[in-house]
Amino acid sequence: MDSAAAMTGSDLATIFDRMSAIGAHPGAGITRLAASAEDGAARRLFADWMSRGGARIAQDAIGNQFACFDWAGEGAPWVFAGSHLDSQPRGGRFDGAFGVLAAGCAALDLDAEIRAGGFRPSCNLAVVNWTNEEGARYQPSLTGSGVFSGALPLDDALALKDGAGIALRAALDAIGVAGETGSVPPRPEAYVELHVEQGRVLTEAERRIGVVEGTWAARKITAAWTGRAAHTGPTPMADRRDALLAAARGITAFEALVAAHHPHLHRSAARLVIEPNSPNVVVERATVWFELRGRDVVELDIAGRAVIAAFEKATRETGTRLEIAADGLRAPARMDDRLSALAGDTARACGFDPLIMRSVAGHDAVALQNAGIPSALIFIPSVDGIAHHPDELTHPEDMKAGLKVLTALLRRLAEGGFHAER
Ligand SMILES: [Zn+2]
Repeated sequence: MDSAAAMTGSDLATIFDRMSAIGAHPGAGITRLAASAEDGAARRLFADWMSRGGARIAQDAIGNQFACFDWAGEGAPWVFAGSHLDSQPRGGRFDGAFGVLAAGCAALDLDAEIRAGGFRPSCNLAVVNWTNEEGARYQPSLTGSGVFSGALPLDDALALKDGAGIALRAALDAIGVAGETGSVPPRPEAYVELHVEQGRVLTEAERRIGVVEGTWAARKITAAWTGRAAHTGPTPMADRRDALLAAARGITAFEALVAAHHPHLHRSAARLVIEPNSPNVVVERATVWFELRGRDVVELDIAGRAVIAAFEKATRETGTRLEIAADGLRAPARMDDRLSALAGDTARACGFDPLIMRSVAGHDAVALQNAGIPSALIFIPSVDGIAHHPDELTHPEDMKAGLKVLTALLRRLAEGGFHAER
């Protein structure tokens, strides 16, 4: 999967094409699950490209990669910029990878400017690839940024298991990502992430740059129905306890209830596991992952309680048992006001009219911000809002706009534009 020719230089289109080839399947998008062989190839391309550009590569114990530019020396504050190189199964090329590679190009350009005597940086910069942002293979998502910022204990993260029972520690080991290497930079004074919007808000507002002021809240409920395994043929109908039937009723009740009473909440039931999953056995256990997203925690609380009551009704009707295996509320985040204002200013100075907006999805920047690291999240448009799908697309002129704003913002931060105001 690694191609022979080495990649050098800060041409975003070239490195983006190189990265997009890793884990690509014709017509089926990109599959680069965290800690897979494809993730390993993406990590090597990133590290090789950055080190050829003069960066020092470090890696922490959860596998986060840091391409470090020690511009201002030891003891100077750090600024981070990045995103993630892992993807969903059959995901898009832009989600995450664009943010890492744009940050890499910005860093290389600024490094060249500094070497030419263009300006004197007062801090160091690291371009970061966070491990398992997507949460496709390992849950929870935002694993690397969660460990770095202290929200998730390292040992818990390394012990996470995928669907096949493979621990994250073993999967990282298998691709040669084993333990800390190099000198990992300390908590930064600022983190900036550039990401595709994954929605249609920017396009509908006819804007090219969005500055995210905060995120929606999310409530994630995992419901498991238990019935009784039985022969699908002779077992009398009155004796059956069908967990899949209960889950199906739970899903339709969830859809009807939320659509009727909370129509502006985003809702999904997107994963179903049934056991034993044989055509000749009445389903004994069905587990469904439900999700509600909205701006308001109180509404999510009310909707979540109504949903669980509907699940209980489906349980009674089918003679099954219900277990709420997980029920988590993710509070809405507010990005750093001062850093976001600087991002907006910078966008305007670059000739754009930034839209101040909210993100429905979570991102590494949100994990860091929630852990007290001042963070800003900048969006560029996604065509038709398509995300987590092979058709995900962002136009080249929007990519260039994002890179321009990111580079200018990192330049201001490197010059001390953030800490000087403290
Ligand atoms: Zn992403």
